[in-house]
Amino acid sequence: MTKNISANDSQHAQGAVDHTDEHRIENQCIEKNMRMTEQRRVIARVLSLAHDHPDVEEVYHRASAVDAKISIATVYRTVRLFEEAGILERHDFRDGRSRYEQVPEEHHDHLIDLSTGRVIEFHNDEIERLQQIIARELGFELVDHRLELYGLPLDRDKKPGDPRKKG
Ligand SMILES: [Zn+2]
Repeated sequence: MTKNISANDSQHAQGAVDHTDEHRIENQCIEKNMRMTEQRRVIARVLSLAHDHPDVEEVYHRASAVDAKISIATVYRTVRLFEEAGILERHDFRDGRSRYEQVPEEHHDHLIDLSTGRVIEFHNDEIERLQQIIARELGFELVDHRLELYGLPLDRDKKPGDPRKKG
């Protein structure tokens, strides 16, 4: 899920990225003439359905639920292969694990909730514009960027079941 944040409305999610096609990665592999074994297909499907930037262990967990013969070494190799082919994007969200997602059709940035490790996707036109300006002022044409925000929830001190409502 990608949140589109405009200046005056930080709650509205617009233009959500479509992650629903379970064959998306598989089809990209076929387009790139990659040899697709049954195990690769399973891993591709697991990754196509993932919304949550899983690490290799989590991908292995999900793939081996479909086919118990898949090894973690196969998942490692396959994820690497997909990354090298430009199908997956690798992230390091500072928790010591490489996390993966499909190369998105529309750019987004990430906010990482340090209390849970949850990753929230967002897009902000203002930030995109500012980065272009900064690069230009430094004498560069911007070709890529990564932005990660690390935060703690504002309501983290409220105990679960706290009757006081947020806002
Ligand atoms: Zn993402």
